[in-house]
Amino acid sequence: MPAHIAGILHATPPPVWLPYPNDVNALMPSLWSRNVDKTPGGELTIAGHRVTELAETYGSPLYVLDVADLKHRAADFVTAFSEAFAAIGTEAKAYYAGKSFLCTAVADWVAGEGMGIDTCTLGELMVAHRADVDPRTVGLHGNNKSDEEIAFALDWGIGRIVLDSFDEIPRVAAAARARGVRAPVMLRVTVGVEAHTHDFIATAHEDQKFGLSLHSGDAFDAAQRIAASEDLDFIGLHSHIGSQIFESSGFDIAATRIIELRARILDELGIDLPEVDLGGGFGIRYTSQDTPLTCTEMAGRLASVVASACEATGSTLPAVSFEPGRAISGPSIFTLYTVGSTKVVETGSGERLYVAVDGGMSDNIRTALYDADYSCTLANRDSASEPAVVRVVGKHCESGDIIVRDEYLPNDVTRGDLIAVPDTGAYCRSLSSNYNHVPRPGVLAVDGEQLGWVVRPESHADILAWDTGFSPSAADADVQAPESTDELAPHERRSTTR
Ligand SMILES: *Cc1c(COP(=O)(O)O)cnc(C)c1O
Repeated sequence: MPAHIAGILHATPPPVWLPYPNDVNALMPSLWSRNVDKTPGGELTIAGHRVTELAETYGSPLYVLDVADLKHRAADFVTAFSEAFAAIGTEAKAYYAGKSFLCTAVADWVAGEGMGIDTCTLGELMVAHRADVDPRTVGLHGNNKSDEEIAFALDWGIGRIVLDSFDEIPRVAAAARARGVRAPVMLRVTVGVEAHTHDFIATAHEDQKFGLSLHSGDAFDAAQRIAASEDLDFIGLHSHIGSQIFESSGFDIAATRIIELRARILDELGIDLPEVDLGGGFGIRYTSQDTPLTCTEMAGRLASVVASACEATGSTLPAVSFEPGRAISGPSIFTLYTVGSTKVVETGSGERLYVAVDGGMSDNIRTALYDADYSCTLANRDSASEPAVVRVVGKHCESGDIIVRDEYLPNDVTRGDLIAVPDTGAYCRSLSSNYNHVPRPGVLAVDGEQLGWVVRPESHADILAWDTGFSPSAADADVQAPESTDELAPHERRSTTR
């Protein structure tokens, strides 16, 4: 029998934003994907499937993807932005930011709802390619694109390459010329706005690696060079101001500055750029403290921001594109864990209950990396115990291995219980690692009655397979070619070992 904890008598104070729950067993629906619910006995379900059964069949930790929810979010975004921009007299396009979570099934699903796909590496390009997404709806970002990435993009015929530095301009031009094509390019501009949640900072200097600075004149300079190249089809300007943004005020400044630059490019270079991309970063609700705008509200505000910026500069309306990542993938996945151990710890200002689960910073690094807050619920049963503020931690050899910093769970949570953490669809699987040689969890997709992997879980055999031991040879002669090289990049075809 598990040793029962005595219960916390003098709890350490919760953070001010965390409300004491009326019912610690109840779900806060706005934090969960639309097909998640609880049974009367307190078991978490997704589309009617009990998580206790999922854990038994598929193991834990487990990422669980609500397919209908993901498709809805993609469709809602496309509809909201198309309608809001149609209302001001132009067109809006949406590109799903693949870096938030990409696999072929997800690429296929969001493309099916009318989104393009944003990629920033050869690997992401190859997933979109394998998913058979229309290349004209695919974009390539990146501040350090390799020759292979540029070649792959051009050979596949992708819709846009977002240029990020001066030296990329002649490189992409030369690659296009060698293929007898004109490369469709946008220019990434740093507009001196950095947005995060409720705050944004407008700065003159931009001490970061992306884009070309508007303020320094580099952006206009780059526009001139692009305009001068016969091998480049200059289709627009791009700005991405940050992530987990809740308000439109940062976009307001960014859009105004981008549209001013577009007007100057028309004036001085005679090029009427057809498109402006305002990037992604639309915030989602991770906890009760987050209050993002709905996508209809955000779309309406951004459309009016673009309309007034165009009016102020006397410009025509461009087509406008957006790159939502977390707003699409984030809320559609929750992570299911099994509790292995609990511990009451004296913090100096009271006691805290630590709940250790079978995953951790290897499957969700955002808490450690960005100080992100998450929520969670006891997922296998109801409890009549008092709520206690707990800290959900992982199994890694690191004290920063925290998944949920502060949340109320029933005081009797114990070994063998299941804990579910919502809103882990974005930047959790995609940033996951094998730290401590932990196999990464798979992603189980649930679509009504249907269940299946979209990313299979790793095994210890996978991890051991990377470890070749050291058996040196004089030259490449001994290195075996892999069986199938179909999907390997050209530079990988020769040197990959098995
Ligand atoms: C990260 C990123 C996005 C997506 O950000 P989200 O916060 O996931 O919406 C979009 N565009 C660019 C250029 C990015 O770097």
